[in-house]
This record gives sequence, structure tokens and C-alpha cells, in this order.
Amino acid sequence: MSIEVRNLVKHFGRLAVCNHLNLTIPSGELVALLGPSGSGKTTLLRMIAGLEQPDSGHVLFHGEDATHTTVRERNVGFVFQHYALFGHMTIFENVAFGLRVRPRETRPSEAQIRAKVTELLKLVQLDWIAERYPHQLSGGQRQRVALARALAVEPKVLLLDEPFGALDAKVRKELRRWLRRLHDEMHVTSVFVTHDQEEAMEVADRIVVMNEGKIEQEGAPDEVYDHPASPFVLKFLGDVN
Ligand code: ADP
Repeated sequence: MSIEVRNLVKHFGRLAVCNHLNLTIPSGELVALLGPSGSGKTTLLRMIAGLEQPDSGHVLFHGEDATHTTVRERNVGFVFQHYALFGHMTIFENVAFGLRVRPRETRPSEAQIRAKVTELLKLVQLDWIAERYPHQLSGGQRQRVALARALAVEPKVLLLDEPFGALDAKVRKELRRWLRRLHDEMHVTSVFVTHDQEEAMEVADRIVVMNEGKIEQEGAPDEVYDHPASPFVLKFLGDVN
């Protein structure tokens, strides 16, 4: 499912948080929205999700205007930094949740749910602890469950907002590999918000660098890294080294 953002504008009060943004994400790509805190990444992600309405402009899914459709209609999966799992449910039930709450007409059978959840838990190598509860898992394991849960409903688009932000460097690195692996396996068009340039470079097919509500540059990681298009990008990428 390709995503297109056309001339998208969003203000909070007088602040232009997204200022005439244009962006095309081809189907199946893993794209990182990279930029400092406050640059408008989350707001753009929320508008792609349908959680936030733009002041003007359009969001297109697969070439069709989705600007005024609901989150459910857009069929997006989410992984957030603090998108907690349900503490009273097992890991298995957490992953199964999105399938169980579907309307009767589209709800899979119990056997189909079992097969799907087991397949996903195997993919993130957590099938051996499917009957445990979230509090019995490490932070990294919990985010792997969150990834599996988001993918269980076979979303057309996967949106991730600083999903590994609360974890330590080693676990973050491991989770990046998980994300990449799952993405390569499922081919879901994915948009990933991060302020960490190393993370974006390592995980994404393409990077969109944002600053003050605008897109400074977009391109393949090495392209952006080797040929920063503006002093801002040069400085922002340079800050790590
Ligand atoms: P980022 O994800 O890059 O950190 P955000 O999209 O979260 O940026 O925020 C961009 C700007 O918009 C920030 O200055 C933030 O304070 C402001 N902002 C975000 N959400 C709201 C809101 N609901 N109400 C008012 N201001 C907001």
C-alpha cells in the first residue's frame, strides 16, 4: 500500500507543525521520519494514521484520498513507545486481541487465530513464552510482542513512533534487527519515527529528515549521509559523530 502526503498543513495555535509537506512512500518501503524533537514527526505520523486531521492537504492510500477516513478504515497497525500490552492477558491473548475484536463477519475462526498468532510469535521467537504475562517479560521482549500484535491484523500500513525509545542501547539495536526482519518477511509499508540518526540509517530503506515542520531532505540512507542537502542536515547528522 503506497502512501502519499500532498501539501499537508497542520497548525497548533499559530505554530505550523507541518508546513506544506509532500511525500510519497512506495508500497512495501520502510521509511524513517528523522528529526529533532518538535520537528513535527509525530504529528505527520498521526495524520497518516487518521488520529489527527490536517488543516489542509491530503493523505492518499494507494492513490485514493483517505484524508477523511477513520483509523479503522485505513487499517493501520501501531507500535508506540508506551503502547502498553494488556497486563491481565497472556502474550498469546495480547497478539490475538485485534483479531478477536473484529466484527463477526470478518472475524477468523479460533483455529485461524491460533495459527496466525503462533506464526507471528514464532517469527519474533517468543512462541515458547506465549502463556506468560507481560510483566514476566523484558522490555525488549515486550516490544517484540507489540510488533507481533500490530502485524496480527495484517495491516496495510505499520506506523511506529519511537518504538524502542525507552530501552537501552543494546536492546534497541537488537529490536532494529527484529523490525527489519519482520518488515522483510511481511512487506508491510512502514513509517518509523525516530530522533536517532543511527537508528534511521540502520533500519530504513529511505530517510525523511524533518526540521520545523518541513522536509529538509529525503533519500536512501547513504545518499543523505554522503550528500546532506542543507546545513541543517549536515549538522544534525554530524551531531552523532
Ligand atoms: P516530534 O515528533 O518531531 O517531536 P511533534 O509532532 O510531536 O514533533 O510536535 C511538533 C510541535 O507541535 C511541538 O512544538 C509540539 O509541542 C507541538 N504539538 C504537538 N502536539 C500538540 C498538541 N496536541 N497541541 C499543541 N501543540 C502540539
